[in-house]
Amino acid sequence: QCPWGAPNTTSISCSLADVMSEQLAKELELEEENAAFPEVVAVAEGPFITGENVDTSSDLMLAQMLQMEFDREYDAQLRREEKKINGDSKVSISFENYRKVHPYDSDSSEDEVDWQDTRHDPYRADKPTTTPRKGFIGKGKDITTKHDEVVCGRKNTARMENFAPEFQVGDGIGMDLKLSNQVFNALKQHAYSEERRSARLHEKKEHSTAEKAVDPKTRLLMYKMVNSGMLETITGCISTGKESVVFHAYGGYATEDKVIPQECAIKVFKTTLNEFKNRDKYIKDDYRFKDRFSKLNPRKIIRMWAEKEMHNLTRMQNAGIPCPQVVILKKHVLVMSFIGQDQVPAPKLKDVTLSSEDMKKAYYQVLNMMQRLYKECNLVHADLSEYNMLWHDGKVWLIDVSQSVEPTHPHGLEFLSRDCRNVSQFFQRGGVAEALNERELFNAVSGFNITADNEVDFQAEIEALEKMNEDHVQNHGKKLSMFSSDGDPPIFDE
Ligand code: ADP
Ligand code: MN
Repeated sequence: QCPWGAPNTTSISCSLADVMSEQLAKELELEEENAAFPEVVAVAEGPFITGENVDTSSDLMLAQMLQMEFDREYDAQLRREEKKINGDSKVSISFENYRKVHPYDSDSSEDEVDWQDTRHDPYRADKPTTTPRKGFIGKGKDITTKHDEVVCGRKNTARMENFAPEFQVGDGIGMDLKLSNQVFNALKQHAYSEERRSARLHEKKEHSTAEKAVDPKTRLLMYKMVNSGMLETITGCISTGKESVVFHAYGGYATEDKVIPQECAIKVFKTTLNEFKNRDKYIKDDYRFKDRFSKLNPRKIIRMWAEKEMHNLTRMQNAGIPCPQVVILKKHVLVMSFIGQDQVPAPKLKDVTLSSEDMKKAYYQVLNMMQRLYKECNLVHADLSEYNMLWHDGKVWLIDVSQSVEPTHPHGLEFLSRDCRNVSQFFQRGGVAEALNERELFNAVSGFNITADNEVDFQAEIEALEKMNEDHVQNHGKKLSMFSSDGDPPIFDE
């Protein structure tokens, strides 16, 4: 017995004129929809599916991307229906619960959501019509029993509607589809396990591959940004470092609260911990992260690097220091404005040949930025060199601040003195006669007055200062006043 029932063979005859007018009506409807939702058309093709970036090696990922594409269209359709139903009515019905949510496409991060608790039981209200006790309905030759295949099959089909909203049952409900009990039970079981799977899927480990720039999960995350319209296209990779990969992207359309820059840089923090191990000391001793560090798993620590970069960039932005502007942070993926033009990133200071006049100008600008970074942002860059300064628009831009710390960090002053050494050497070698030596620069930036005239004594004094501060923290629970800049609010007040 075929569970799908016999095909309906009765054909409906209609005139050509009927077909034509129906088609015309459809076309008009489509036009109307397009006019109402132009953005849906604008991003109809994700750059990761088409074009040269196409990666067909992972069936799963392709399937997920296609699903996302489908979901997006489905959601758009849902929005249209919602709008149609609600019209101008003051009371509106939300279709939000019927939106497509797939486990890999969920914004909720793996830790917070308890799916079991937040979802209703889809199997409770599954009695559409009851068959009376006697076991049959109807009269005479129209009598049907509860075992009647057709009635039972239709009933089963109708019961699919009671599955969780995110479980796709297809368009069978609208057809005269008859499901046998066996098939229905299998589907029901599947719907149930699907729901629980979404919770488990979150916990699955991310596998990052060495040869690919980013792992599939990250690519999905990036693809989602394109899919949502926030980015228009991701054009390619700018830089592959040990700890991060940077991509160029064209910005999409603005949302209510955000204007997306025309060109963006996407910094993806690598999800393998190997390279991050030796960075422990930057973050472990940073009081801003102190309470959180011990409780975290490796993936969260990597997200914290991204978070740190975001917060540090924001501080710099507020102080008017030229740096990328933060657009959005999603997990370990940070989107910021692109320094450069037409996909060409601004050159690093180490790669650009400046006139002696520009070189001098750059030096004074860097000196000023270091001072403001210290005093106004309460930050030490901690990886400052000609590699992390870009030359763009006739000025120097600071980048790469995920490892930046506050001066009171237990090693903050050592980091600052290293920054000063790099900067001083670069500009002195670059022929800037006015450039301070590293110790003078250190004093000029920090406001300390360390008089040691040689490297060894200088370092010893710095370490003594750091130790003094640590002891003070131990004894008084706060930093030394000479370290702190006025009125800098702590970033993390959760
Ligand atoms: P890493 O930790 O890998 O050094 P960076 O933040 O320094 O990470 O980025 C690596 C490279 O990517 C930089 O040297 C620079 O060339 C490029 N880059 C990073 N951010 C931007 C940006 N906002 N605009 C343009 N280029 C960028
Ligand atoms: Mn860098």
